[in-house]
Amino acid sequence: PFNPTVDIDALRAGNRRALARAITLVESQNPAHRPAANALLDSLMPYTGTSTRLGISGVPGVGKSTFIETFGLRAIERGQRVAVLAVDPSSPVNGGSILGDKTRMESLSRADGAFIRPSPAGDSLGGVAQRTREAILLCEAAGYDQVWVETVGVGQSEHAVANMTDAFMVLMQPGAGDELQGIKKGILELADFIVVNKADGDATLLAEASRRHYQNAVNLLTHNGFWQPQVLSISAVTLNGLDTLEGQLQDYLRLGSKSLAARRTGQNLSWLEEQLRTLAWQAITQDPDAVTRYQRAREAVMNGTMAPIPAAMSVLQP
Ligand code: GDP
Repeated sequence: PFNPTVDIDALRAGNRRALARAITLVESQNPAHRPAANALLDSLMPYTGTSTRLGISGVPGVGKSTFIETFGLRAIERGQRVAVLAVDPSSPVNGGSILGDKTRMESLSRADGAFIRPSPAGDSLGGVAQRTREAILLCEAAGYDQVWVETVGVGQSEHAVANMTDAFMVLMQPGAGDELQGIKKGILELADFIVVNKADGDATLLAEASRRHYQNAVNLLTHNGFWQPQVLSISAVTLNGLDTLEGQLQDYLRLGSKSLAARRTGQNLSWLEEQLRTLAWQAITQDPDAVTRYQRAREAVMNGTMAPIPAAMSVLQP
């Protein structure tokens, strides 16, 4: 069984096994591990907040792992340390998560400055997201300058990832045009960078057409704040466009330093609120008297004898 002790000095010194253990501790769904997880997070808080947090999303096959490997190795060459975390609430409990496959990002996973962690197993997106947020903090305390959170672009997980990162990047397929409009529109509103991948070989022209398509779509959206989302095409294989993307990311972080601090504060406050909601709900469901009152309130609402708001209050205030 997992014994939740973490060597904090080793973690702070960048020891990957200590970091992996720490993440296992905060991911644990065993309530008996929570006090140790909380104590660990408390003692590491002074060393957090130090990384660039980048969200990376895209449909399966768009090239996320190829891109992250290339982009990550380039960052490591510049002397950065890169942690890659995944958010994939659909992954089954036993592996199968988007980063679970060991053959993905093989060179990056062997690089000294890299740490790669698959998605925590979990039933709800909320639970997976909460544990990933904590993993971000732990990676920062372990000295990672870059923390990248990868997610599959097929549902609500993009919102969760955009809400825990400084910059959100969406990878697109060349030519995967209007049939994806339903997914795309909401995503375009979240994206700080829209990156058409595979702009190489025969797909170069198609990628350029897609880039213009997304540029037009983005021009129709209204954006607040310091940044107009950038649309560009790259190739994770030929490295075409990666210099430009790196330069734009630098610009984004420099121009946005004040707004990004406010964005993080807002994210932390909504995390607090979300957590309180979860805990309040747990407190109700773990108190037999409250559960009885809740049953009564449900019946009263079903029968139409109480309106939902007074019924909810009757659960909290006997
Ligand atoms: P993921 O599912 O989003 O992680 O996608 P992968 O990184 O596994 O890539 C899916 C396929 O697209 C693989 O066969 C890659 O070799 C290929 N691929 C990824 N990036 C590029 C690129 O920039 N150009 C070309 N031509 N193929 C790419």
